[in-house]
Amino acid sequence: MSSKADIRTFSAEELTEEIIKLGEPKFRAKQMHEWLWKKSARSFEEMTNLSKEFRTKLADHFTLLPVTENIVQKSKDGTVKLGMMLPDNRLIEGVMIPDEDRSTACVSSQVGCSLSCSFCATGFLKRERNLEAGEIYDQVVLLNKYALEHNGKPLTNIVYMGMGEPLLNYDNVLKSIRLITSPEGLNMAQKRITVSTSGIARGIARMADEGMKFNMALSLHAATNEKRNTIMDINQSNKIEEVMAALKYFYSKTGNKVTFEYILFNNFNDSPEDAEHLLKLYQQVPAFINIIEYNNVEGVDLKKAKSEQRDAFVNYLRNKGVDVAVRRSRGKDIDAACGQLANKNGK
Ligand code: SAH
Ligand code: SF4
Repeated sequence: MSSKADIRTFSAEELTEEIIKLGEPKFRAKQMHEWLWKKSARSFEEMTNLSKEFRTKLADHFTLLPVTENIVQKSKDGTVKLGMMLPDNRLIEGVMIPDEDRSTACVSSQVGCSLSCSFCATGFLKRERNLEAGEIYDQVVLLNKYALEHNGKPLTNIVYMGMGEPLLNYDNVLKSIRLITSPEGLNMAQKRITVSTSGIARGIARMADEGMKFNMALSLHAATNEKRNTIMDINQSNKIEEVMAALKYFYSKTGNKVTFEYILFNNFNDSPEDAEHLLKLYQQVPAFINIIEYNNVEGVDLKKAKSEQRDAFVNYLRNKGVDVAVRRSRGKDIDAACGQLANKNGK
């Protein structure tokens, strides 16, 4: 790859310094910033209010490396999965999920994942690298096009639930959220963004201190350490108690209820006793519970819970006053559902 700096890795201040170094007036940096983010320019040539000379100078000193579309798949339920190519030819996936009242983008934060939760297709890939903030941003820009085309409305929500563990790419994920929500970027509301984590306690607590208002979801899936250790390795080093403490802190700083995601697996975590353990965690912090249907992943022994078990589980919680929703799975026919993203088509 070229040794020129990637222009989108600079903060607004750094960009100003770079532009001044090139002997250009300061206001050019503002124009540049607008092209790079608000207008999502994909090349220097597009920046038509800059002189040809300056554009050439920029191209001599920097690279602008947008993410490009690779493969588009549309599910019969309207979900669109977008395979995307990174500047170094690596592949990632993002998903646009249409609903009557919203369009949700599910974005990736890493190529692969360094964790290996036993039920997740991404976990079977090795983590190749973190995504740059610009690469996360580009997924939103590209998926927005499909939201408009296929759902008649722009993206309303963004979930960091694609490939990778967002809190293990902390800086770039935070940068991307700042850009997506900034008036100089896509100007989306922070409360429409949800970061999903397998439970990196330190990362959750740090995010709480960033002065932001986005939502935090924990992929819990088992409500005791003993059980969770068997399906999520991360639980060995980030025990439920530590993660709960971090979530409480997150709530205290942001005022946002947290979300517990809980995949129901047949005969693993779907008994009345499991529901009781989950209830105990729920009672510790203002929260919602999302019950998620397990999506089949090849080579995984776990199966999805039977519907009677699921209903009993959910009813138990509802009767205790728990705010619980059962999430329909979307895009299963094209492997676009939670946990199924694995670049199967691109290889
Ligand atoms: N790494 C982060 C975000 C990406 S995973 C995390 O783990 O939270 C997004 C969500 O999909 C998580 O809740 C994850 O537990 C869930 N998931 C993984 N595999 C799944 C599967 N096979 N079926 C349903 N959900 C799955
Ligand atoms: Fe990684 Fe999340 Fe999949 Fe676990 S569930 S392997 S953390 S992407």
